[in-house]
Amino acid sequence: MDREILLEKVREACEEFERQNGRKPSKREKNKINGFPARMTSLAFDKKVNKFYTATSGRAPSRESFNSLLKERMPNPSLESGRDPESCAEVQAANKALNNRPDAQISDLIIATILTGDGAPQIRCENCKVTLRDALVITDEMAEQEVKNVQIQ
Ligand SMILES: [Zn+2]
Repeated sequence: MDREILLEKVREACEEFERQNGRKPSKREKNKINGFPARMTSLAFDKKVNKFYTATSGRAPSRESFNSLLKERMPNPSLESGRDPESCAEVQAANKALNNRPDAQISDLIIATILTGDGAPQIRCENCKVTLRDALVITDEMAEQEVKNVQIQ
């Protein structure tokens, strides 16, 4: 699967935010630079069956509601202060993928996460690095590259 196609799909999913919430993400939700909470959109692609699942961050479903593969890996306590492992977009997207196919594994997933407001690729948080360690997360590397470019300028 081409990473550009995955990115395009996850950006399409951002429009879903607007449909579901009846508004565009707020400025606060867009702002990643000053450390404000930022609403993310993630896509999980199940490469075994060629299916996409998307989710946005923010709301944290109960840990009990997650697929056991995710539940057993989620850090407890959270590795990020003020943010629960359950609240991230990528674990929620992965949860949909795993629940949709009983024999799905985390390693079957390719994940892309962007900032909903401007589509910028985002690095996984410390919780997600643990919970989703077996997945291929294409946006980690892309976001690191962007950070490097910013520092050079
Ligand atoms: Zn996370």
